[in-house]
Amino acid sequence: MKLSLIAPCYNEGENVQPFQDAVIAAFDGCGYDYEIVFVDDGSRDATLHNLKKIHAAQKCPVKVISFSRNFGKEAGIYAGMKEARGEYICLIDADLQQRPEIVRDMVKILDEQPEFDVVAAYQDRRGEGRVLSFFKKSFYTLINRLSNVTLQPDASDFRTFRRSVRDSILELTEYHRFSKGIFAWVGYDTCFIPYTACERNAGSTKWNFGKLFNYAIDGIIGFSTSPLRIASHFGIGTAGAAILYLIFVIIEKLFWGIDIPGYATIIVLTLLLGGIQLLCIGIIGEYVGRTFEQTKDRPIYIAREILDYEEKTDV
Ligand code: UDP
Ligand code: MG
Repeated sequence: MKLSLIAPCYNEGENVQPFQDAVIAAFDGCGYDYEIVFVDDGSRDATLHNLKKIHAAQKCPVKVISFSRNFGKEAGIYAGMKEARGEYICLIDADLQQRPEIVRDMVKILDEQPEFDVVAAYQDRRGEGRVLSFFKKSFYTLINRLSNVTLQPDASDFRTFRRSVRDSILELTEYHRFSKGIFAWVGYDTCFIPYTACERNAGSTKWNFGKLFNYAIDGIIGFSTSPLRIASHFGIGTAGAAILYLIFVIIEKLFWGIDIPGYATIIVLTLLLGGIQLLCIGIIGEYVGRTFEQTKDRPIYIAREILDYEEKTDV
């Protein structure tokens, strides 16, 4: 098996069949074997029903993994990679925003350029609003400054890579998964190619600002301990300022007699310090929480059912 296309699906009922058709059209006459590994991430619509139909028809080799509930796209990617047989693995969305034709180009690059182990697509033109673009840009600047991995801004999960990369990624069994960081962390030489995301075929995006914000925090906490260091710096800074102020107050008392300090100052300082303390406890809490989750050692996903296909054996 040359290529495995991994498509995580959450409520993509209307998209899975057009997706398979697009894949078959794109790889028609490509001259190599490929399979599609669909991961149904606990969908609440007809996704699983339609996937079972696709599996029964086997218009091309199709494997279906269905989760016992919604575990998130990251878990879907992990499960798909685990079950993939291909020499090359491709992560692609099931909503046809990422065209399968581009995967052919990715495969070609891996075939022709052995120095690259990963081909990643980045969006050359983003269709989203200015505010979101601004936050995404700030996120990349921040995470690249704080962590010891370097993320390519705008690089998506849409990538094709060699099996060795897949093996390395599967060794990272962290519960809170952040693919962009995981890819950067495992290393390997990556070729970045531009692509333009198409409109969704049907349905709607599963992301909103709040979810993206939490995902960004997952990324930063998962790949950097700098926020803890920053919290310590905050502490040192405020303690230092307090000591300086104390010296100032003592000198004031000794040389000029006491002036009762303003009520407002006390309130403002109490609130400010309280705020900084809560923030620092929150930061520590994020790390403790993740440590707690990880020590429970729960599986990343639970598959209720895996529908495999019979491999063709050439005699
Ligand atoms: N997805 C998933 N589990 C989730 C959310 C999303 O498997 O909990 C899948 C979804 O079905 C799609 C891909 O991840 O194939 C990308 O999701 P979406 O299109 O909502 O994200 P966007 O393209 O808007 O960034
Ligand atoms: Mg999408």
